[in-house]
Amino acid sequence: MTTQEILKKLVAFPVLGGENNLEIIHWIKSYIESFGVTTTLVPNEDNTKASLHCRIGPSVDGGVILSGHTDVVPVKGQPWETNPFELIEKEDGNLYARGSCDMKGYLSCCLATLPEMVKADLKTPIYFAFTYDEEIGCLGVASLIEDIKKTYSETPKYAIIGEASMLQPIIGQKSIHIIDIIVNGSQGHSSRIKQEVSAVHEAAKIVIWAEEKMNSLIDFGSTDERFTPPHSSLHVGTINGGIAPNIIANKTTLSLDIRCLPQDSAETIYEELKNYCKQREKEQQPVFSGFKIDVTENHPIVHALNTSEDSDAIDLIGRITGNYNWTTVSYASEAGYFSKAGYESIICGPGSIKQAHRANEFISKDQLQKGTEMIQSLVKLLETTF
Ligand SMILES: [Zn+2]
Repeated sequence: MTTQEILKKLVAFPVLGGENNLEIIHWIKSYIESFGVTTTLVPNEDNTKASLHCRIGPSVDGGVILSGHTDVVPVKGQPWETNPFELIEKEDGNLYARGSCDMKGYLSCCLATLPEMVKADLKTPIYFAFTYDEEIGCLGVASLIEDIKKTYSETPKYAIIGEASMLQPIIGQKSIHIIDIIVNGSQGHSSRIKQEVSAVHEAAKIVIWAEEKMNSLIDFGSTDERFTPPHSSLHVGTINGGIAPNIIANKTTLSLDIRCLPQDSAETIYEELKNYCKQREKEQQPVFSGFKIDVTENHPIVHALNTSEDSDAIDLIGRITGNYNWTTVSYASEAGYFSKAGYESIICGPGSIKQAHRANEFISKDQLQKGTEMIQSLVKLLETTF
């Protein structure tokens, strides 16, 4: 099958983040196994989803993991001009469908090159590592990496995460952490503000805490000019509470989005936030004993990517794309997990991130072609002792 034919097949599985992905993963599994390659599925707890990994080539150290996700973001409420789950080729040279760019295009480039990989005399192995639930917080990748470490006696060296980057190598990304907070205060007449605990007022203090935390990191010089903005950001995106100006609010919810530079610790900020909320509880419980602030993770921290500028991965990706330049991004991906697990990791995939997550998402035929050529070049490179 050509890359485009495979992409047509893959986009027809309408698997959103959080949904059962068994149909698409089993299609991929049988496709791979039809070339005589053994695959391993890594299921979630209740067997409704699975990641997949496999190795093509010899069991020797130094291999390259090609990583991608099988889930896509929703289409509901978006003004799509065509069926999002059917690949539509238009005269503008673009292929339209949800996931065409993010990131079934890259999966198709990998899968279409599989016959060449199998035939090639690879000196160093290639691995596929395809996950579920990336779009709702990279939930499948940790168990996948764990299973890769358990399954293979040799150690891969590199990971190429094919998120849409117009095939521009990316060596840095911020970590992302979303935190949900529920402030439980006491209700009463607004004039009793000193005798009750207003959940709105306490929520406002948390907003100020977040902003001051961000500013203090900047003031202490924690900046990295490779990123835009060049500092960690703490941002409260939603806040809901209260029913009337003259009623003290007994409940307010807020959500906090924290994007950390690799040098700042998302874990530490989370601990500090929890400590601050505990301190507020202590202070206000004498006024209202039921005062409580619940702080929970919306999803685990998506780790930062911080590949060194001297990494061999830059040389590897340069050899197969012809592009030795690198940049950084502010979106999340599974790259941070591969990096944390010890693989020299780089994001590089076909299509533009501008197309991702929006209506009428597309990938150009040119990018799909170049993406396939990148994987073909990798195969040729790994036939040599590079
Ligand atoms: Zn993606």
